[in-house]
Amino acid sequence: MLTLLALVLATAPHDTLRRGLAPYWQQRVAYDIAARLEEPLGVLRGSERIEYVNNSPDTLRSFSLHLHLNAFRPGSRWSDSDSTEGRRRFNDLKDPDYAYNHVSNVRIMGQPVTAIYPLAPDSTIVRFQLPTPLAPGDSMVVETDWDARVSTVARRQGRKGRHYDFAQWYPKVVVYDRYGWEEHALVPAGEFYGEFGNFRVQLDVPKDQVLGATGVPVCGDPGWAAANQTPSRPVQYGVEAYPSIRDQVSGPAAGENGACAFTNFPNPAIPVGYKRVLWYAESVHHFALSMNPEYRYEGGAYKNTLVHVLYRPGDEKTWGDGIAVKRTETALQWLDQLYGPFAWPQLTNLHRIDGGGTEFPMVIMNGSASQGLIVHELGHNYTMGILANNEWREGWLDEGFTSFQTTWFGETTGQKGGYEDNEAGVLDLDLGGWSEPVSLVSDKYSDFVIYNQMIYSKGELFLEQLRYVVGDSVMHEILQTYYQRWQLKHVDGAAFQAVAEDVSQMDLSTLFGQWLHGTPMFDYAVGRVRRQRQGDGWVTHVEVVRKGDGMIPVDVAVIGETDTAVVRTDGMAPRAWVTVPTRSEPRVVLIDPSVRTHDWNMLNNRYRFVLIGKRAPPSANYLDTWFTEKESRDRLERGLMPTIWYNTAGGITVGFRARENYLGMFEQNQLLMSYSLGAPGDDANVQELDFFARVKNPVWLRSPNQSERLEAFRTEGRWGGLLGWERTQQEHLTFGPKWTQGASLRMVNIDNTAFLDPQQYIDVGIAELMTTLGVKTRSGKWQLGGRLNLGGGLVFDRDGLASVQPNLDQFYFRGEIEGTARRQLAKKLTFAGRLYGGVAAGAHTAAKQRQIYLGSSDPFEQLYNPFLRSEGALLVIDDVPYQAPGGGGVRAADFRISGPAIIAANVELERTMLLRQKSKLFSRVSVAAFGDAAQGIGGPAQPTTGAALGFVADAGLGVRASHRIGKTSFLTRFDFPIYLSEPEFSRNDFARNQAFDFRWLFSVQAAF
Ligand SMILES: [Zn+2]
Repeated sequence: MLTLLALVLATAPHDTLRRGLAPYWQQRVAYDIAARLEEPLGVLRGSERIEYVNNSPDTLRSFSLHLHLNAFRPGSRWSDSDSTEGRRRFNDLKDPDYAYNHVSNVRIMGQPVTAIYPLAPDSTIVRFQLPTPLAPGDSMVVETDWDARVSTVARRQGRKGRHYDFAQWYPKVVVYDRYGWEEHALVPAGEFYGEFGNFRVQLDVPKDQVLGATGVPVCGDPGWAAANQTPSRPVQYGVEAYPSIRDQVSGPAAGENGACAFTNFPNPAIPVGYKRVLWYAESVHHFALSMNPEYRYEGGAYKNTLVHVLYRPGDEKTWGDGIAVKRTETALQWLDQLYGPFAWPQLTNLHRIDGGGTEFPMVIMNGSASQGLIVHELGHNYTMGILANNEWREGWLDEGFTSFQTTWFGETTGQKGGYEDNEAGVLDLDLGGWSEPVSLVSDKYSDFVIYNQMIYSKGELFLEQLRYVVGDSVMHEILQTYYQRWQLKHVDGAAFQAVAEDVSQMDLSTLFGQWLHGTPMFDYAVGRVRRQRQGDGWVTHVEVVRKGDGMIPVDVAVIGETDTAVVRTDGMAPRAWVTVPTRSEPRVVLIDPSVRTHDWNMLNNRYRFVLIGKRAPPSANYLDTWFTEKESRDRLERGLMPTIWYNTAGGITVGFRARENYLGMFEQNQLLMSYSLGAPGDDANVQELDFFARVKNPVWLRSPNQSERLEAFRTEGRWGGLLGWERTQQEHLTFGPKWTQGASLRMVNIDNTAFLDPQQYIDVGIAELMTTLGVKTRSGKWQLGGRLNLGGGLVFDRDGLASVQPNLDQFYFRGEIEGTARRQLAKKLTFAGRLYGGVAAGAHTAAKQRQIYLGSSDPFEQLYNPFLRSEGALLVIDDVPYQAPGGGGVRAADFRISGPAIIAANVELERTMLLRQKSKLFSRVSVAAFGDAAQGIGGPAQPTTGAALGFVADAGLGVRASHRIGKTSFLTRFDFPIYLSEPEFSRNDFARNQAFDFRWLFSVQAAF
């Protein structure tokens, strides 16, 4: 029997199968809501009658309601999830600032029932046992009283003064679908899901309130006419959209106050000073509401849809004067041509308290009137409102779609970079290993940021990939068919896929499967290539190699002498041969010429018919100004830069640097060649050709959050190399501790001591293995950092290990530990502190270049810097007191002083004097008071004076300024350590006599 069934299933066309096995159904609800706003309490008190029709094939035994406003109070899952992720909003709110929605006196089928809170202590879901089971096809009535308040901290809802954004304000029926009751706590990741129904809503509000809501006002005055800013365009209420409602309403017409009443409806007296407004809406799954006595009104229309705009005082130039109305009409027009006619009679666009924007059926609540935001939120009226997806289960179906259609709109209005910027952002997340499937139940994402990135940005990119695969006109047809087939129904990814496959006549299962349910990496490469003459023209056979697990149709272009031909292959096979005919002789083969496959490595996508460099990665050279390194999506960028510096032995040294990168993270290779012109007449005169070469993060070693480098150099009397590896680990992209682990093997030999300051180097070679462990984290208001370096080395001279200098061990141990803490004490006041301990010793002592330095970084750390590394270089001459921070951090001390072990503490108190975030050259200027203290431990110290290194402290004042040039941020720091306990150690040779003296130094790095 089973085998037979399997056989039948296997031969059935898959669409029939899908539809045949799961016939679509949705529940039906009708709400009667009566509510009164109590000011100044800001509480909405109401009663509600819900008629519920069970269209499901199941017998129901319980019934559930959303109480969304209970999310915005202490102890809710929303608040806790905020707190965990470092956003404190609702957990700190006290009465009367937090939001709530209580139900009382609940009756189902006429009988009182008890509330159950299945997600307690969260109370955003309330459940009731039915007095008797509800059979398929049967209906029931649910009645409840309730009160509701919105919070003073706005999040989609909120209140400020007499402005209330009652976004989700009434007990709302939970959807029952083929998964059962969709009882989800309202948390930051995840939005709404509702049953379609009709709403009759009676609102009693103070007379001066101006209202915006889902539906149309059918009796009473929403306040629009009095607030209308364009009297030449009288207010249209749109009652005629619902002819059936006329018989259910008594009282004056819309726009006029009076004794309004629905038939069969609670009808208490209207309080003094209040007005009553009746609203009606059909086939919506939510009823949103906002009110503010200061709202200004402007109206418009697109086709049969009225546009109501409500803005606030001060918005005259940004929303008023028809701007928001026009933009809302433009958005309606765009969506109308994309999907089809709007399903409802009106669209209200209002200026809410919160920033950003949120969509509700017929209402968008926006923080600004930007065209992009309006297209996005209004777009949700299609993809969410009319095509109603389950926003918990498949958030991409509304956010991905509306982001996609907003970018497409931008494209048609000439905006550049929509696709490119989004694709690059998603690629960063993919390469960093952060991506999670686009179609994941929203609260299963690891955090709110990843949820957003996946359902908005990567969801958008998926739809862009579909558009690339099927083409623009088929994409358009898919959207229209999707809308026709599924409007005013609940949709899911499978429904959309079926439409896309029907319309395109393509099997899209791999595309949907990989993009929505996996995190594939795409990488296509040119394999073997052959070309041959054929008739009048040429054919080129190209082997397309799929190196990633991701599969997507890929274009292969052959660029001939005078023509170009493109052939698309399905991209499925690991290796596939493609034949491309051209009229002229082929020159270049290019895979994915339009850069649309999300191919992370475009460096292997080109082949050239040349003698040398057939497979050289596509690259471009630019003049590197040091501050801004270029990066490109589809080629290696190579920055070329002439260099010049000076030191005593080499004199003026000229050179040339080339640095490369791909995507800003791979192939960060560097080659620097330099030639010292020498210092004629000086003993130290050296003319030599030097080089520094680095290979870093090659594409073939790609591994998320790892970095590898290999270096070789011959630089100013030293030669050697480095092999290094580093890995960063972080559980969450934007919060939580960030760990770094690393290891390096380094060798530095000396072949010419003329360049070296004997007080920094002795003439031995060093091979050192170092491991690093680092962490950065936040704890409350503290920013904390820690670092541990542990390793050791071998010392040798030109005759080998055995013959090193007396008093110098062949082996040394080197360890450093550092902790930093920083916190804001007041708005402009920051405290920063550092503790440090370092030891470098064998049985006797370590070579001078590996000792622990009192006030500066050590000689190996300075090796990369031509202004620091050699004697007489620009930043080490005595008249230019530069501090390269590191070691014990006693900044007033001479940079040459070192010892076998040092412990130190540094503190800074910094006050911001000037903050200009938009300014690049001086974005911040601050003054600081600082103090440094260090204690040398054990063994002979090797300071300039020959004195032993004991306790050394300094203190003084400083000035800092933050700058940004191109992509580079840095600061300049001037410190004036007027006190130095051991003045003979002073970096300034003019201040070596007394503890209190004028001293100064500068740096382009923070002290720590
Ligand atoms: Zn959205």
